[in-house]
Amino acid sequence: MTFISNRLEYFDSSDFRDAVKKRQELTDPIDLSIGIPEELTAEHIKAAGIKAIQEDKTVYTPANGIPELRKVIADKLCHENKLTCDPEQVTIVPGLTTGQLLVYLAILDPGDEVIVLDPYYPPYPHLASMIGAHVVYVSTLPNFQPDIPAIEASITIRTKVIVINSPNNPTGAVYPEVTLRKIAQLAKQHNILIISDEIYEHFVYEGQHFSIGSIYPNTITMNGFSKEFAMTGWRVGYISGPTEIIDAINELQQYSVMSSSSIAQHAAIAALTHRPHMTEKYKQKRDLLKQQLEHMGYDVHGMQGAFYAFIKVPADLSDVDFVNCATDHNLILVAGRAFSRLNGFVRISYGADLETLKKGLDALKGLTKEVTNTTTSSRRP
Ligand code: PLP
Repeated sequence: MTFISNRLEYFDSSDFRDAVKKRQELTDPIDLSIGIPEELTAEHIKAAGIKAIQEDKTVYTPANGIPELRKVIADKLCHENKLTCDPEQVTIVPGLTTGQLLVYLAILDPGDEVIVLDPYYPPYPHLASMIGAHVVYVSTLPNFQPDIPAIEASITIRTKVIVINSPNNPTGAVYPEVTLRKIAQLAKQHNILIISDEIYEHFVYEGQHFSIGSIYPNTITMNGFSKEFAMTGWRVGYISGPTEIIDAINELQQYSVMSSSSIAQHAAIAALTHRPHMTEKYKQKRDLLKQQLEHMGYDVHGMQGAFYAFIKVPADLSDVDFVNCATDHNLILVAGRAFSRLNGFVRISYGADLETLKKGLDALKGLTKEVTNTTTSSRRP
């Protein structure tokens, strides 16, 4: 007899727990596993958080967040992302991961179908399954771009929402405007919502970020402060979309979240008034990683944005075997099965600094040679 609910059956975060465990166990590991930018939270953001504490802005805020922050975000969405957006159509959440759950709770009934493009950020399918929705996976192989006919073929009368994430975790793919227009067209035709997670919007090295919400009003746009502003531990993000849905999320927040951290929200206002410029630095890391991966013989797709590579491991090795071999080289990666139903991929993060990335590449070279040789020699008659 167990006290644990059946809901947990849909959860498996073991590949991330495994990476954390390795980080603790290895001496001076080369960590290319985590989705954290190398920067620290900027001084002016920290100062705004400290000031909020000193000025006793430490009580609950309205469930949807402080009006000043919602106003700054609405202005940003309007000017940068070309969304028509009123501050009342913005709600503040304690990070996008919680935000994703709140959106699903607001829109999904058991049996509703959610289209998730594979590979995906793990909470998309896990949280949907947890609340009784049915996840329909659409593969983005071979180049990690949405396959429009495949998406169309997967739409049924129960389809409620398509989840998209560009720039993408874990593939780094950036979806062109023309593709997003086709997805919007499909959604409109079938009266389907779109959830667009744009947390990596400023990490684009090829092409341009395009917000699908600017052409399709039934879009729930999600964004946050974790990546661009190196604020992963502050736990603050935002959602904007149709008033009816935002109101429902606010209703849910009142009895679940109460409010996001007041301190983090004040820091977030400071963040948005002074933006960092880090694209060039990340592009250099991206260029180095991509070029070296190709040199090692990997087939590289995606990588136009975000800070990840999702590569097929050599020979017939499984992703878990490859990740374990990497550990022997003191290198931490995440097995692709955490992000995909496809076999034999691993995710490499280049959120880490250049020096760590270079060390990781040296380790990966040794590892690649080793596993390739082993498999070749074991095949010899
Ligand atoms: N969305 C994507 C695509 C991510 O990769 C991540 C973190 O890795 C998040 C959301 C998490 O955002 P938050 O820190 O706001 O929960």
